Amino acid sequence: RNQGVGTWIHRRRVKSAGKTALISGGAELSYDEFARRVDRLANAFAARGVAKGDRVAYLGENHAAFLETFFACGTLGAVFVPLNTRLAPPEIQFALQDSGSRVLVHARTLEPLAVRGGKDTALTHRLVVEDAGAAGGQEPLPGVAVELFEDVIAGGEDTHPDVEVSLEDAAMILYTSGTTGRPKGALLTHGNMTWNSVNVLVDYDMVSSDIALMIAPMFHVASLGMGVLPALLKGATVILEPRFEPGRTLHLIEKYRATSISGVPTTYQMLCEHPDWESTDISSLTKLTCGGSAVPMRVLEAYENRGLSFTGGYGMTETAPGATSLAPDKSRDKAGSAGLPHFFTDVRIADPAGEVLPAGQVGEIQIMGPNVIKEYWNRPDATAESYADGVWFRSGDMGYVDEEGYLYISDRLKDMIISGGENIYPAEVEQIIVELEAVSSAAVIGVPDEKWGEVPRAIVTVRDGYQVTAEDIQNHLQGRLARYKIPKSIIIVEDLPRTASGKIRKADLRKQYSQ
Ligand code: ATP
Ligand code: MG
Repeated sequence: RNQGVGTWIHRRRVKSAGKTALISGGAELSYDEFARRVDRLANAFAARGVAKGDRVAYLGENHAAFLETFFACGTLGAVFVPLNTRLAPPEIQFALQDSGSRVLVHARTLEPLAVRGGKDTALTHRLVVEDAGAAGGQEPLPGVAVELFEDVIAGGEDTHPDVEVSLEDAAMILYTSGTTGRPKGALLTHGNMTWNSVNVLVDYDMVSSDIALMIAPMFHVASLGMGVLPALLKGATVILEPRFEPGRTLHLIEKYRATSISGVPTTYQMLCEHPDWESTDISSLTKLTCGGSAVPMRVLEAYENRGLSFTGGYGMTETAPGATSLAPDKSRDKAGSAGLPHFFTDVRIADPAGEVLPAGQVGEIQIMGPNVIKEYWNRPDATAESYADGVWFRSGDMGYVDEEGYLYISDRLKDMIISGGENIYPAEVEQIIVELEAVSSAAVIGVPDEKWGEVPRAIVTVRDGYQVTAEDIQNHLQGRLARYKIPKSIIIVEDLPRTASGKIRKADLRKQYSQ
């Protein structure tokens, strides 16, 4: 029997038959139609040689086809591999080769990337999702058959495949952002995805009448794991937007009476700074979830003025992704905190020897629970490193908990600077630098120093139309931070190197600016 995520839509087919599951590209898909399409696609995959354990990759923005592929894979016990659309061709090629994907489903608009990334891989089939326009398709990759996704579904048999899938079986390989090195394929099981969704349903009060507007890309685990999957498990309605555009998002909230949205702090800032913010009816909203980092106070206040507060959270690809969450009623009392561990998940703070540290002391954040991966795909070295004691997953992030168990994140272990025996967490310094109106982004790295071992250096970009000097920045930091934390040198640059998910590549900065 199939115990995996692939059965969720199949079960909903009966329980929520006529209800709208997805709104994608303006078209509504009921749970009944959704389940039928998933079955047909699963049968069509099987007819093309996809069996249990085989990998199927997806390259595209938010669209129903993404989820149809995900659930069809789950139905067959095949492994879904979502790819970030902002990756460069060699990065796509790496993910396809590393995962050994046989089938690639991709948006027509991303064909050049799919073809270049698909060179010298194990692909046998390429299925093209036509967003608009007529059929096409030559065969630019030798030996790879090209078909239209819609034709493939139409030709699939209309029965529900019966494959044995357990919670221990692999559901997805999801590549980490690659902020600290080469991306690692986190091997997420059906159990990981299921338990994360249960955690979210328990902690975020999700209900079947929810209408979740998804503006963040589903190839990030945050959007899929915290928003889409729990909503579909619950039988709610999900609206898929291919990209975030603040004016359009406000319009859709009003049009569909959306109850929940999720994003990063910048998303929320852009919404409340949009000219339509005041005139849009957002009274339907009951849940705003925000991850990645704490919501700045002025953004918090702009939403509070309209009766809305945030659920914050901390997580990572390897925890499918929820590790902790901060309930809306605590967003002020515990400002700056990432909250409490999710219901079925445990978090502890440990020193390098694995000793648990008391409240208030900074150490590595370690996580255990049914949502946490057991291994990385093809990376026994990374698996061994992450499970030093065989039980607790080492997040690589530093932080502390307060007396009530609320987690505060300091920074990544790899980014920590040690200066004269004192630890400096760059994130703390960066947050204060970007308070300056003229600064658009800041990164602090450690550079070698004869006297102190390392000293902090800031690399800063300036907002268009503004000016700022190194001296202005140092003056701003005086009195706000301990002297040893204030960067000894500040370099102003045009751009900071970033990952496909927008995170600053500190390792590259260290290479470039350490001298
Ligand atoms: P890689 O593992 O390849 O270096 P990555 O860690 O950036 O890349 P993700 O899994 O996308 O890949 O990101 C998870 C990381 O994001 C966490 O380990 C943490 O460093 C950071 N993070 C997530 N949520 C928060 C938060 N609320 N506050 C601060 N940092 C956060
Ligand atoms: Mg990571």
